[in-house]
Amino acid sequence: MRRVLSLENLTLIAIILGIAFGYFFPNGALKLAFIGQIYLALLKMLIIPIVVASIYIAITGLSGKDELKSIGIKAFAYYLTTTALAVSLGLIIFNIFDPGSGASLPTATDHPLPQPQELTLATFLLSFIPSNIFKALTEGAILPIIFFTILFAIASLSIAPSKKETLYNFFDSINDAMMVLAQWIIALTPIGVFFLIGATVGKSGLDPLINLYSYALTVLFALALHGGVVLPAVAYFVGRFNPYRYFLQIKEAPLIAFSTASSSATLPVSIEVAETKGGVDKRVAGFVLPLGATINMDGTALYESIAVMFIANLAGVELSLSQQITIFITATFASIGAAGIPGAGLIMMTLILESVGLPTEYIALIIAVDRFLDMFRTAINVWGDLLGAKIIDSLSRRGSSGHSY
Ligand code: ASP
Repeated sequence: MRRVLSLENLTLIAIILGIAFGYFFPNGALKLAFIGQIYLALLKMLIIPIVVASIYIAITGLSGKDELKSIGIKAFAYYLTTTALAVSLGLIIFNIFDPGSGASLPTATDHPLPQPQELTLATFLLSFIPSNIFKALTEGAILPIIFFTILFAIASLSIAPSKKETLYNFFDSINDAMMVLAQWIIALTPIGVFFLIGATVGKSGLDPLINLYSYALTVLFALALHGGVVLPAVAYFVGRFNPYRYFLQIKEAPLIAFSTASSSATLPVSIEVAETKGGVDKRVAGFVLPLGATINMDGTALYESIAVMFIANLAGVELSLSQQITIFITATFASIGAAGIPGAGLIMMTLILESVGLPTEYIALIIAVDRFLDMFRTAINVWGDLLGAKIIDSLSRRGSSGHSY
């Protein structure tokens, strides 16, 4: 009985009941949306202390700069390879199914449109550097916070051992306390998820999904293929572990990612389950997961490539191979630049549309289903991060033929 009523199963039941609640009682679901918001706010409350503490202890807990370099290189190689695989898969699946070809352009939408993004190399690089770390902390600017914490931790490797230990113990204690807090909040997941999903369905109903079904199905099929076959194959061949068994251990995190549509809000849970249930060393999880939640978004990258091609189809624009290559490159960077929050992928898409000369207003054509697809792509984003952590953990264990890092 306890097994049947595990938190993961309760969360799954809450998702299904939440959809029914939002569909049949939209007004009630919208009125009670604040309960889901409370749960989300509680999760978000933990993000900054967990990111700072976990990255700090991950780096200073390693045996030295060489080990950090080795894990860092593996992490970036994993992020880039899997993102590239995701975008390629999106483009291939799109070219096979070709949704929306021959359709005429629907009329305008009443949804507010995201503002076009500008991304030059200079703004991209500058966006990493916090000129004022306290401003970055209060604004919750995750990428600059990560950048600062990594440098701060690397600098700490060079200070006197006793001082280094003081700092390590300080951040390690913060981390432990945050993990206890995370467990308390995670216990509330089924309630939070029920109201979050209820409000999402209550707001737009299920009609948009039906109207844009060929597009939505193409995205979902490609996401399923990436999350169910491509990523597990990487895990199996590179990490040499059973990815499906690992999924069953950590499934609470993708479920929460699905319900919140936010990789960042899911981060406290991802770290918790990777360490306690997935057996990932905390120095690897503490480094790979916060970074991954911010820059490794396979689901988003895949989704953007399909969405842009779909928009081109609806607009009757034939995209050449070189334009598809441009999409490949910009979608990769757009997914790196997208924040781990709901709808971030949609905002970054303006950048890809501009790169191939499509008007950004065309986003209006797909905005109605964005939130639904966001839930699925976020679940794949988080699943990709968790697999990455496990793969790098197994590689490091094998490399050092033991548990010492
Ligand atoms: N919601 C996604 C995430 O948090 C980002 C996106 O909009 O694609 O991972």
